[in-house]
Amino acid sequence: MDKHEVLKKYFGYTEFRKGQLQLIDAVLSGRDALGIMPTGAGKSLCYQVPAMLVSGVTVVISPLISLMKDQVSALNQCNIPSVCINTSMTADEIGDAVKEILRGRVKLVYVAPERLMTPFFLSVCSKIKVDIIAVDEAHCVSQWGQDFRPSYLEVRDFIKTFPERPAVCAFTATATPRVREDIERLLELENPERLVTSFDRENLYFEALKPKDKRIALKRYLDLYTGKSGIVYCSSRKCVDELYEYLLSEGYSVTKYHAGMSKSERVRNQELFSYDEREIIIATNAFGMGIDKSNVGFVIHYNMPGDLESYYQEAGRAGRDGRNADCILFYGGNDVRIQQFFINNPEDNPELSEKDKRNLRQLRLEKLSSMLAYCEGEICLRKYILSYFGQKSENCGNCSVCTGLTSSIDVTEPAQKIFSCIVRLKGKETKRTVCDVLKGKLTEDIEKRELDKIKTFGAMSDTAESIIEEHIDYFIERGYIKADEKNRLTLFEKSKAVLFEGRQLRRLRQRTAEKSEGHRTDVMLLIKLKKLRSQCAKKASVPDFIVFTDATLISIAKIKPRTLDRFAKIPGVSLSKLEKYGVIFIREINKHCKENIEKRKNN
Ligand code: ADP
Ligand code: MG
Ligand code: ZN
Repeated sequence: MDKHEVLKKYFGYTEFRKGQLQLIDAVLSGRDALGIMPTGAGKSLCYQVPAMLVSGVTVVISPLISLMKDQVSALNQCNIPSVCINTSMTADEIGDAVKEILRGRVKLVYVAPERLMTPFFLSVCSKIKVDIIAVDEAHCVSQWGQDFRPSYLEVRDFIKTFPERPAVCAFTATATPRVREDIERLLELENPERLVTSFDRENLYFEALKPKDKRIALKRYLDLYTGKSGIVYCSSRKCVDELYEYLLSEGYSVTKYHAGMSKSERVRNQELFSYDEREIIIATNAFGMGIDKSNVGFVIHYNMPGDLESYYQEAGRAGRDGRNADCILFYGGNDVRIQQFFINNPEDNPELSEKDKRNLRQLRLEKLSSMLAYCEGEICLRKYILSYFGQKSENCGNCSVCTGLTSSIDVTEPAQKIFSCIVRLKGKETKRTVCDVLKGKLTEDIEKRELDKIKTFGAMSDTAESIIEEHIDYFIERGYIKADEKNRLTLFEKSKAVLFEGRQLRRLRQRTAEKSEGHRTDVMLLIKLKKLRSQCAKKASVPDFIVFTDATLISIAKIKPRTLDRFAKIPGVSLSKLEKYGVIFIREINKHCKENIEKRKNN
């Protein structure tokens, strides 16, 4: 069998994606490899395909138990014998797994980094032939990455325990040049085949906005996404709990996930989401690394994350199936302060020296300001992210800046009027009065104090009151206007340049998102197929998307294959899936088509 046959037979795909071949070939020739590809690019296949073509075992080092469990059950569904060994398993389960390994029945062994150097695991490894070591989420080895895991440093010692060095391959989705160097150096990769694919995820739409009321904005988006599966990220457990209660009471199909919940509750909720029994999961960043759910249609960040690495990785969980998906970021409120708090009160890490800690703090502050600049900037969001990761690109046409959803407007004139009014009122008046004077409202109070006599009275009479207020709030926030404890307004020094020197002032404007969608799929058939898929999934005790991903299901509903041959040609239909599900799906399609013909006859 060759790599193309493995791809088709076990995974049901006909073509390798960009870059996959280059890495697979390197590994198969016994070389080391380093794959830096965005989330969803298909990194797993780069070691899973070679694993099926070498005679020995492939050891996969993976940071999270949930991640391992999902991958192993997905592989076993494809008839690829794999096991994991981790702390969530009982001694008996581990014993069974080891037996299978020693009998030579297992192609892939998934293991957590802290297990590698245990005498137990080393003794298992000494009895088998390990041809490939794959290090997934390899950025965990670097302090400059966003989830440093000191136990990843043991990987290089583990490699050295083999008399004959296996091919070592490492993969990550997040790597600034600094992290990339760390991975090569700390894992001691030997002249690896390097592949850095474009970080661009073309099917993702990016939007950043600062809603006045985040809850209202969130509901608007969730309504827009009805029927789609999505993640809402919050920066704290408390926020997750509150938002969950709120959305539940508003009738949304939600579940939640954070590290403060019991393990069983987390597992259950994750399954509710994976099995499409709940549409939305509200979660902290504890939810994610293990999520291989391919049909996530949107990721909304309810709070701004602390750095673009985290943001892009979390947002990147949308659209793994290649279909269009949306990444929406809400910022504002306490977001910056919360992140600053995290930076100033870091988790204790005894492995870091005081100097390390200081450097880390500085680094994280820099990262935070890049994150903020993403939100508030006026350049194409995609271009900004890509350039952060060292990649040049053009304006994308598919983000809120490019589509003009957010754009900046010149507010020099209203600023001058407002500032001038404040000067004339000599710092004695509140926001309310300043607004009324600008609007030209003849209230009793204004008449009595003759404020209608000043020059800026009615200067903004044709502007809506709410807009005048919004402008004032904006200038307060930006440090142009000062509001004292009694809410009386005066000017800060920097507003003088606008008032007297004609300095231009621009501000970001946001319109509301209104997106329509047009499918030409046979929706009725799709609904029936989804039901059928759920039944199959329940029987096999796996999430729906492991039977067929949404993308595959939609292809089936479009193409309506009536023969096994035609069915086999649909992307995502592997040989084992054809055997398991082909006949029953075709039966359903036939039934549906017959019913349609009957209906037409009767009309
Ligand atoms: P990554 O680890 O890079 O984030 P995964 O390995 O989890 O991505 O793959 C993401 C999705 O892409 C999976 O659903 C996988 O089955 C699919 N995929 C991978 N390679 C191919 C391919 N050559 N053709 C079609 N789909 C693929
Ligand atoms: Mg992966
Ligand atoms: Zn753009």
